Amino acid sequence: MTSYKGACFCGAVEVEVSGEPTAMGYCHCRSCRSWSASPVNAFTLWKQEQVKVTKGAEHLGAYQKTEKSDRKFCCLCGGHVLTSHPGLGLIDVYAATIPDLPFQPQVHVNYAETILPMRDGLPKLKDFPAEFGGSGEVVGE
Ligand SMILES: [Zn+2]
Ligand SMILES: [Zn+2]
Repeated sequence: MTSYKGACFCGAVEVEVSGEPTAMGYCHCRSCRSWSASPVNAFTLWKQEQVKVTKGAEHLGAYQKTEKSDRKFCCLCGGHVLTSHPGLGLIDVYAATIPDLPFQPQVHVNYAETILPMRDGLPKLKDFPAEFGGSGEVVGE
C-alpha cells in the first residue's frame, strides 16, 4: 500500500498516511482561514485508520472550538498537523503537511465565503456536499 510521510514545521511530529484519500480539495471557510492564517486550506481527507502519528505524539496539542473539528498542532513550533472530524470519521491532513502526496483537488467547499476566487474549472460548492451534511449547492466561480 502506498504511504506518504509528513511532518510539522520543526519536524518533531511526524505523520504517515496510507492508501488513497477519501477526498482532496480546497476549503474557503472562515475557520480554515483564521486557523491557518492563509486565504484557503488545501485539504486531504482520510479515514482514521489510514493516519498514524509516527513520531512526537507527546508534542501534539489540541484545540476544539466546536465538536466538529479537533485541531492538532505541534506545541514546539506551532505548526498545524491535522484536524480530526469525529462526526464524519475523517481526518484532514493538510496537503502542505504531506508534500510528497500528489495533490489532485476535486472540489472547492465553502466557496460562498471565499476571499480568493480560483477559476480552475473545478466544482465550487456553496458549503459542503450533501453527504457531509451540507446543501450540496453548486455556485459560480
Ligand atoms: Zn513542530
Ligand atoms: Zn474550512
